[in-house]
Amino acid sequence: MNSAYLYLQLYRLFDQITPIPADCGALCDKACCKGDDCGMFLFPGEASAYSLLNPDWIRIENSDFTYTYAGVQKNVKIAFCNGNCDRYQRPLACRIFPLTPYLDNGKLRIIRDPRAYAVCPLAKALTLNDFDRNFVKNVRNAFVLLTKNAEFMAFLQEYSDYLEDFMRFFDKE
Ligand code: SF4
Ligand code: SF4
Repeated sequence: MNSAYLYLQLYRLFDQITPIPADCGALCDKACCKGDDCGMFLFPGEASAYSLLNPDWIRIENSDFTYTYAGVQKNVKIAFCNGNCDRYQRPLACRIFPLTPYLDNGKLRIIRDPRAYAVCPLAKALTLNDFDRNFVKNVRNAFVLLTKNAEFMAFLQEYSDYLEDFMRFFDKE
């Protein structure tokens, strides 16, 4: 399947479904959309969706974070915005925040993103069971599908190691 098409389909899982059945941005004044130097990683192949969408509010660059697939080292793409976007075109990382996929001894788990503890009141206060059930289910379904791809799995192993550094710092999960 074409990566751009796949991500555009996955985006739709989160057009109407959000972490809790309320506007959580009202709790924190959209804390996760502030800090324009942070950016969000795009998942492998996701940048191709932006080649189609071509929005003017996003800037995509190579990050320093890499993974190796089929003997080739690849830079993970990172997207920057100015704190405003078309919500129907926002990246997958924004749609699933404050949850994230994580490989636990080779097994996919959906966890609270340890990078979110410092900014997101939901990540600080809720357990996974407290999030909207359909939100958690859609996050899981999206990554069950993506992890069928060998390159995505290579990425996810590196990404999980990267998350573990934050977990150690926050002593959670
Ligand atoms: S930081 Fe957390 S609570 Fe605030 S808008 Fe983002 S996801 Fe919602
Ligand atoms: S792309 Fe949209 S949802 Fe994501 S950080 Fe920027 S403003 Fe927030």
